[in-house]
Amino acid sequence: MKFSRSVEIPLIVEISESARKRIADVLNRLQISSAILITGEKSYEVAGRKIEEKISNFISNKFFVKVSGMEVAKNIVVSIGYADVDGVIGIGGGKVLDVAKVVASELSVPFISIPTTASHDGIASPVASFKENGKAVSILVDPPTAVLADLTILRHCPIRLLRSGYGDLISNVVAVKDWKLARDKIGEEFNEVAASMAIMPANFMLTSAEKLDLRNHLEMLVRGLILSGVAISLVKSSRPASGSEHKFSHALDILGYGNGTHGEQVGIGTIIMEYLHEKYYGEGDWELIKMSLDKIQAPTTAKEIGLTREQVLEALMFAKSIRRKRYTILEDVNPSKDEFEVVLSKTGVA
Ligand SMILES: [Zn+2]
Repeated sequence: MKFSRSVEIPLIVEISESARKRIADVLNRLQISSAILITGEKSYEVAGRKIEEKISNFISNKFFVKVSGMEVAKNIVVSIGYADVDGVIGIGGGKVLDVAKVVASELSVPFISIPTTASHDGIASPVASFKENGKAVSILVDPPTAVLADLTILRHCPIRLLRSGYGDLISNVVAVKDWKLARDKIGEEFNEVAASMAIMPANFMLTSAEKLDLRNHLEMLVRGLILSGVAISLVKSSRPASGSEHKFSHALDILGYGNGTHGEQVGIGTIIMEYLHEKYYGEGDWELIKMSLDKIQAPTTAKEIGLTREQVLEALMFAKSIRRKRYTILEDVNPSKDEFEVVLSKTGVA
């Protein structure tokens, strides 16, 4: 991982019950007068329309995203033509925000992210994840200039998505352990600030795992996901928030197995990889991870996300061949299929 000399992180971040109402101030502060609005049909109904009404004289064009993808982003850029656009506002979930951040990056204008879900750390990260020809691709773009996380909007997002967000957040616990492993074993650059930002909110939630309730801990969840995104911006790499547990999730995506969300898959991956970290390096507490996921009723078994034991084993073996340059416990220990079988039984995942 290479470090650059400059760092770009969001200039304005607000997490509050009425963050949405700050939009006009933010546009003025960023001197934006002709923005495009990118949203989804549902997000528009739930939140976008009301926000748009308040800033209609700032909006020059509006696009509805139905499916995600690079192509969708490119089409938006093409259809803008040579019109003067000096900002992009994204109001929506992961798909919408991923398209919007690519469009803003392509146009080199500020991007204002107004998430309507808190299902993963993409709400404030410089990473856009798409499926291209059945393959998952992640590209690094500019981070949002402003993030307005409105808790009133986010509280209404489906609980399954909040549970997924929690899974993505606690996955940082393993991701940072893998990162430290890479520092110690292969001398990879390590950034303590980014690592702390990635794991402190996760650890905080884990210490109160016994009483965890996502609706009550919404603000901390959202803060954690935003800090994850900023940590990624800080080192211009998903390293602080993506290790072996994400390789497992990517493997499931590539193989097309199961029906879990990103956060559900990495949550289960976190139980498995935390077990291995605990076993080999005496660091970690997989039971605490599992208990916290159970507490918020997120899946902790393969079956709950439509996976058989064989599929999980295949995905774990396949995960070892994904992104080999990202050194994790999978590269360090190279567990055998037999070993994974034991892990699955002991953790109760499958
Ligand atoms: Zn993730």
